[in-house]
Amino acid sequence: MSRIAYVNGRYVPVGARAIAIEDRGYQFADGIYEVIRVIDGKAGDLDRHLDRLERSLRELAIEPPMSRAALCAVIGETLRRNRLRHAVVYIQISRGIAPRNHIVPASGRASLVVTVRRARLPSPHEVDAGCRVIAMPDERWHRCDIKSIGLLPNLLARTKAHREGAREAWLVDDDGFVTEGSSSNAWIVDGEGRLVTRPAGTEILGGITRSVVLELARKLGIEVVERPFTLEEAKGAREAFLTSTSSLVMPVVQIDDSIVANGVPGSITRQLQAEYSRRAGLDVLSTQQDR
Ligand code: PMP
Repeated sequence: MSRIAYVNGRYVPVGARAIAIEDRGYQFADGIYEVIRVIDGKAGDLDRHLDRLERSLRELAIEPPMSRAALCAVIGETLRRNRLRHAVVYIQISRGIAPRNHIVPASGRASLVVTVRRARLPSPHEVDAGCRVIAMPDERWHRCDIKSIGLLPNLLARTKAHREGAREAWLVDDDGFVTEGSSSNAWIVDGEGRLVTRPAGTEILGGITRSVVLELARKLGIEVVERPFTLEEAKGAREAFLTSTSSLVMPVVQIDDSIVANGVPGSITRQLQAEYSRRAGLDVLSTQQDR
C-alpha cells in the first residue's frame, strides 16, 4: 500500500507531484513544521504541539490554513487512510504560493501538508544501552525557538554525527555552552546531582518532551536548574541524556571521546525514562512487533 499524504485539500500518494514550484516553502524554506507521536491511535501531548505550531506561525506572521479542529480531523483522516495506530505525524505549513520575491507577500494562502509514517521509536535495547553524541559548532540562526523548516545546519551536523557512528550532534555556541542537539534537547546531571538543561529562549527549540520531562522531574522531587552548561561540564557530568518526540528520553553515555561517568545510563535518567514511557503509553509497545 503506498503511503497517503494530505496536501492542500486532497489526499494523494506520497510520491505525487502535488506542490507548486513557487511554493515559498520549496523556494525559501518559508514555513514551519511539527512532529507528533501517535500511540494506539492517540496523539501524545497534542495540545502542546498545536500550541507550538500556532506560535511558530504567529512569529512568522503566517495565517493558519485552517482551524485547530479541522487540522485534527485531517491528522485523524491521514492516519486512518494509512491504517496506522502507532505513528509519527509530520505537519508542514508554508506561506504558500507567490512569485519568487525576498519580500514576504502581505497576504496569501498557506500550504498545508500532513504525512504519517510508522513510528520508529528506539528499541528497548537502544534505550538501555544509551548513545554517543559528537560536539559541533552551532551554526544556526538566533530564532531556534521557531520550528522552521530551514534546517540545513541541523542536517549537516546530524549527517556528520551519523558518519562518525554517533546518534546525535550536540551543538555548542561561541562561548562553549551546549545549546541543544540537531533535533533534540540536551540534559546533564551535574556534580551536585541537579538536573540541568538550557533555559528556553531563542537559542533552542522549546521541546515538548523537554517540557514534559521538566514537569516529571519536579514531581519526582528531582532538583532542576535551567541554566546553560558547557561541553566540558557535560563531558564530566554524572549523567547525560537527550529528549525528543521520536528519541524519547535517550541516555548519552559518550560525548566525543569522553565516556560519561561509568558509561551506562544513570539513575536519574532511568527514573525519567520510566516515568516518561509510562505517561506516553509506551509500555504497550514493548510487547508489540512494530515499535
Ligand atoms: N530541538 C530541536 C532542534 C528539534 O528539532 C527537536 C525535535 N523537534 C527538539 C529539540 C525536541 O523537540 P520535541 O521534544 O518537541 O520533539
